[in-house]
Amino acid sequence: MNKISDIETIRSLFPALEQTVNSRKLVYLDNGATAQKPKQVIDMVNLMNSGVNGNIHRAVHELSSKTTELYEESREVTRKFMNAAQREEIIFTSGTTASINLVAVCYGGKHLKKGDSVLISEAEHHSNIVPWQMICQSKEANLRVIPVDENGHWRMDMLDNLLDSSVKIVSVSHISNVLGLINPVEELIFKAHAKGIPVLIDGAQSIVHIETDVRKLDCDFYVFSGHKLYGPTGTGVLYGKREILDSMPPWMGGGDMVDTVTLEKTTYAPLPLKFEAGTPNFIGAAAMAEAIRFVESIDRKLLDKMEQSIVDYMTEELLKIDGLRLYGRGDSRISLFSFTVNGAHPSDLAMIMDKMGVALRSGQMCAEPLMRRFGVEAMLRASFAAYNTIEEAEYFIASLKRAIKMLS
Ligand code: PMP
Repeated sequence: MNKISDIETIRSLFPALEQTVNSRKLVYLDNGATAQKPKQVIDMVNLMNSGVNGNIHRAVHELSSKTTELYEESREVTRKFMNAAQREEIIFTSGTTASINLVAVCYGGKHLKKGDSVLISEAEHHSNIVPWQMICQSKEANLRVIPVDENGHWRMDMLDNLLDSSVKIVSVSHISNVLGLINPVEELIFKAHAKGIPVLIDGAQSIVHIETDVRKLDCDFYVFSGHKLYGPTGTGVLYGKREILDSMPPWMGGGDMVDTVTLEKTTYAPLPLKFEAGTPNFIGAAAMAEAIRFVESIDRKLLDKMEQSIVDYMTEELLKIDGLRLYGRGDSRISLFSFTVNGAHPSDLAMIMDKMGVALRSGQMCAEPLMRRFGVEAMLRASFAAYNTIEEAEYFIASLKRAIKMLS
């Protein structure tokens, strides 16, 4: 099949991009928070809600067989997309947050003891901080942190000291939702593994911007959300190496995660169902497979070329603006930019730009420790997706300049 090799075709697949907001053509640059959905994702949700609907894994009737097939097919599509070795290694969850909580409770709950440590970085989303704090608190373990430098890079020089024998797991983002830098996860995984420590990679931002190969990375867990990958909300994935998932106790108990149940004792279903208690979001999972198919239908060269030209244009133009401070500086980055402007509050700028049709994120970005690191209370963020054009980047820069002027 011919791959999509132009951006107009990509845009034509997204009904949401045709709307006007505040009487202006929408320029949607809040993709780091959630992405818009292509037609094939919407169609799958509609098709299933309109009748291809029967609870999975439970009944012998036709509708149940169809939905079970779509659900398990999605697992296979996801497995291939991440290059996982086996379908049993793909657990469907409700998103990144649920996936990290699952690992914190099941892996951390089993392995952490008083005085042990969990290692994260200073640039994590709250979803990759709080679940670890909670399990550390209950186990009397410690949360250790890799600091970031002025440019937002992990202080790799401190890693050898931080990674001592008290560390039972490392959990870090592949790409921070604030800084947009591609972190040196390969080096971290290599160093952690040399000491026998497993590593979880939070791929919430990376999954949509760079190709993910969990076997090449050799990470022990990899997590992401469907909604940032053009899929539905309430969908997500926990990838885990089979032997490590096998060794973990289940999280939630309920239907589908059991083998036999008596009132005295329950035995659990094998992977992946052991971690999928209750009726899962099977419509969402089937639609997430469509989102992955959409991403795979685009020529990767087009995606990489667009990403690079937006990175080059945005970095150059942002840095020309007086009083603007860009957080996350370096060549290895994605088209996600967080910044502050002297004398202009991020929320005021975001509100003015919303009136111009530009959707941005402002605030603490669910990364309060990182805000504190840089001595600010809030930032403004523009984050791009496969359907964003250079013209939109130009409109964004022109609108930002106008908004700054209005506030000065
Ligand atoms: N980690 C990172 C790096 C993120 O960007 C996000 C979403 N902003 C999350 C975790 C949490 O994802 P979700 O809210 O979809 O569970």
